[in-house]
Amino acid sequence: MKILLATHNKNKIVEITKALEGCGFEILSLNDKPDLPDVIEDGDTLEHNSLKKAREIHEHSGIMTLADDTGLEVDYLNGEPGVYSARWAGEGCTYDDNNRKMLKELDGVADEKRNAEFRCVITLYGEGILKTADGVLKGRIIKEPRGVKGFGYDPIFMPDGYDITLAEMPLEEKNLISHRGKAVKRMVEIIKEMKKAD
Ligand code: IMP
Repeated sequence: MKILLATHNKNKIVEITKALEGCGFEILSLNDKPDLPDVIEDGDTLEHNSLKKAREIHEHSGIMTLADDTGLEVDYLNGEPGVYSARWAGEGCTYDDNNRKMLKELDGVADEKRNAEFRCVITLYGEGILKTADGVLKGRIIKEPRGVKGFGYDPIFMPDGYDITLAEMPLEEKNLISHRGKAVKRMVEIIKEMKKAD
């Protein structure tokens, strides 16, 4: 049995492949399937985009597919950028552009009003199979970027209970507490149950 990961991102591939070790699946990614079309992520929720990616890639490949979508939801901005996190500062923007925009939007906002959370939704889609799992990481947006590890909003996000940002945290530790780490763990449990019932 195969599972196709609907991503080109090496970190995600390593993380999910590791989590599924010993489950008896051959794990593939979009890097193994260069002819598959790009999926346009035009949904207005993380659930919608993750389902759309998993379903379209499954329909084109015929392989059971796992897709994820993540967003950063900031309380003071009424949940923005959420599903628009990747291109929040505009088409073709960099992670730094997004972080600069965030610090500008929160300029002058007090510490206690800077709460935010990452939310990740994962969908598994195959013949007669539709399963979802999610994971949340709560924290707050700090006032200056700190750290060089990770990606995206990591340098400006400090998880609750820590005094370092995600960009100052070793990847293994981030994976243990992160939104995606939690969602992957839940999905692996679902997959193991599915296999047992087979
Ligand atoms: P994706 O759905 O995983 O591609 O995530 C969408 C966007 O959310 C990314 O382009 C990043 O800006 C942001 N993002 C997702 N996961 C993380 C993370 O673990 N740390 C920081 N930013 C993230």
